[in-house]
Amino acid sequence: MKIERILANNPGPFTGPGTNTWVLGEGDGTVVVIDPGPVDSDHRTAIEASLGDRSVHSVLVTHTHLDHAPMANPLARAFGVPAMGYAPGPEFDPDKMLVEGEIVRVGRLRLEIIHTPGHSDDHLCFRVGDVLFSGDHIIGGSSVMVDSMGPYLQSLERLRGTGLRTIHPGHGETMSDPDTVIDWYLAHRMQRHREIYAAIVGGADSVDSVVEIVYSDVDVSLHALAARSVRAHLGLLIDEGRIASEGDRIVSQPPQTQ
Ligand SMILES: [Zn+2]
Repeated sequence: MKIERILANNPGPFTGPGTNTWVLGEGDGTVVVIDPGPVDSDHRTAIEASLGDRSVHSVLVTHTHLDHAPMANPLARAFGVPAMGYAPGPEFDPDKMLVEGEIVRVGRLRLEIIHTPGHSDDHLCFRVGDVLFSGDHIIGGSSVMVDSMGPYLQSLERLRGTGLRTIHPGHGETMSDPDTVIDWYLAHRMQRHREIYAAIVGGADSVDSVVEIVYSDVDVSLHALAARSVRAHLGLLIDEGRIASEGDRIVSQPPQTQ
């Protein structure tokens, strides 16, 4: 299996060094392009150069955020192949929608489709043997923004202990110890979960006040992003019956007595 990374020129606070586009294939055979990124002519030229004369099977997206999916349709159209993902998004219209458990055959390669909601509801990971293309479910060198916390934690847990040896993420460097990374992600989220609950018990009664307390060590420019993850934690705390929301106010719930 030959795996190439092409880094898009879109570095930033939300994208790290930029979006990783992955080109995956068997030697000189057929290839698949994963996450072609934003529409950018230099990046497109770099992707096309790496493809060479090889035939393209399809263009896949892990999710429809704007740093991953917008070039999928134009690129797929240019090659006359389908663009595939879980669902339509703001700048993505799949020719084929992928479902959990489906196998996409690319030459001799078998790509297993794993639905991993959490970072976004439409998030997929692609598994080939012991290699995972993780999009923004797991990224190199940092935690990720989460929209739905309960599903996110389940999406992490289902990958743990499954024999993965390599993770190629949507941002940052390739990781060679997946279970250690997944354990760190789970521990980090549970620590945030405890800190957020403690802040509410301590009197914080809004998303902003929780962010100020729990993310005091994080640069203010990232607080809007942190607020999304805080909302996701609050959603899980509400599901757990530990807090309640009264309009915009958040209050801790006394433990239920039987
Ligand atoms: Zn991303």
